[in-house]
Amino acid sequence: MEHPSSYIAPLPADKQQIVIDETRSYIKQAVDHFNIKDKTVDIRFDLKGRSAGMYRVRSKQSLIFSRQQRVIRYNPYIFSKYFDDNFATTIPHEVAHYVTDIIYGLKNIKPHGKEWRVVMDAFGADASVTANYDLAGIPMKRQAVFTYQCACRVHRLSTTRHNKIKKRRYQYTCNFCKQVLLEKHETDAVT
Ligand SMILES: [Zn+2]
Ligand SMILES: [Zn+2]
Repeated sequence: MEHPSSYIAPLPADKQQIVIDETRSYIKQAVDHFNIKDKTVDIRFDLKGRSAGMYRVRSKQSLIFSRQQRVIRYNPYIFSKYFDDNFATTIPHEVAHYVTDIIYGLKNIKPHGKEWRVVMDAFGADASVTANYDLAGIPMKRQAVFTYQCACRVHRLSTTRHNKIKKRRYQYTCNFCKQVLLEKHETDAVT
């Protein structure tokens, strides 16, 4: 059980600035080393859930322009709880995604493939799999809820479970009546 006292406060602004500076310094290093063009990237601390970081590109299009909006997102709670580790690994990890995006385009390579590992090597950073942190006290993303029904009651299932049922043909049974849960549609009679 999680205790309220174990709640982790998000990374304070002064430490966020240190992370931003470090990110910019990796980008500068990559610009020099790979001779790439330094494209605008926003750095935000708005990521929630299990990931420490994320790199994202969105295409913005209008009649007169088409441009890419690049964002590095950090999880302020995981950075707060495991600062040194994330400072050393998550920052180069996300900048390496940014660098491979500029060189190859994200859709042309595997996320953690050889192109990405070459950049991590250039940074002298550890390219091994993501750490498995104890996330106690760290707020999780709120999941959408789907309504299911058995013979005795209504059940609320997470998106994860709903997708397992829809895409992977999982079945969940009710702990009380042992019936298989079926999705409840709007047109179903309310019982
Ligand atoms: Zn990654
Ligand atoms: Zn039931």
